[in-house]
Amino acid sequence: MSQQDFAIGIDIGGGSTKIGLVSTRGEIAERRRIVVSETDGADAIVRQYAAAIGDILSAHPQAKPLGIGIGFPGRIHPDNLSGDLGNIPALDDFPLAERIGNLFGLPARMENDGTAAGLAEAMFGRDRDARRSLLIAAGTGIGVALTVDGKPFITSGGGLGNAGQLIIHGSDGRPCRQGCVGCLESLASADALNGTVQRYCAEMPESPLAARARSLGREPDASDVVVMGLEGDPAAVAMLADVGRWLGRGAATWAQIFAPDVILLGGGLSAAGDLLLGPLEREARLSGLALYLAPVRFSLASLGNDAGIIGAAAQIFPTPKP
Ligand SMILES: [Zn+2]
Repeated sequence: MSQQDFAIGIDIGGGSTKIGLVSTRGEIAERRRIVVSETDGADAIVRQYAAAIGDILSAHPQAKPLGIGIGFPGRIHPDNLSGDLGNIPALDDFPLAERIGNLFGLPARMENDGTAAGLAEAMFGRDRDARRSLLIAAGTGIGVALTVDGKPFITSGGGLGNAGQLIIHGSDGRPCRQGCVGCLESLASADALNGTVQRYCAEMPESPLAARARSLGREPDASDVVVMGLEGDPAAVAMLADVGRWLGRGAATWAQIFAPDVILLGGGLSAAGDLLLGPLEREARLSGLALYLAPVRFSLASLGNDAGIIGAAAQIFPTPKP
């Protein structure tokens, strides 16, 4: 590997920011994790990111990074240098990429974090042979990213707009956490599953799900449904199948618009594996047009939590020619 074959990836998350030195083969050679305080201003955050990058580079003096890529959990402005509606308010509309790049004399840019994860899966995941790869990231919210010939496909906001807010259902009228009503996210996210399992456990206090949460000394949540589902608990399996079917309707719709070769299921809920992917695929094939769904392969995303750092860095790597 030549000394040029690296980039720095910064994956800005809600709880913490992960920073890594990533090779053009998609391997993370060194990583740091930073938790910024809610009272930190943008300059203080830049100083902490820069210190971590400096630390990483001094541990790998032979590595000469091609640049710095940032995955930002919000909308990206068209210049790919700043964003807004992220989960660190101090960084909204702040020229983060420019400032960090200037500190190290390196090119820098940012992508939406879901878009970055999709790029990582498309370049380095198990299904990297697909030309058109659609990632459904099902976690607290639902993110959707399309990568075509190694490049993120952008409609608005640094990704496919708010595709996880597909309006799908005459709901009970309660808005989702982003504010729309009857969207997929309000039915099929970890947030939605938290509500489902809490209502279930209130009605069924003797159920294994309720007993598990009680033994952990907290309210039941989506993670309990995943764990108990994998252990074969019928109620948890049914809840996951329900979420999978809603996601399947989303997948059918996105397949009919974007014609992906592969649909990947990632995000925290994908730890449920086939308990979620199976119902998702069946519902997508039942409800979508065969013309669009027959060519699609359904698969689990393979990079897990590292997709964020790897994809942030990968936006700096040269794009493979189709
Ligand atoms: Zn919504």
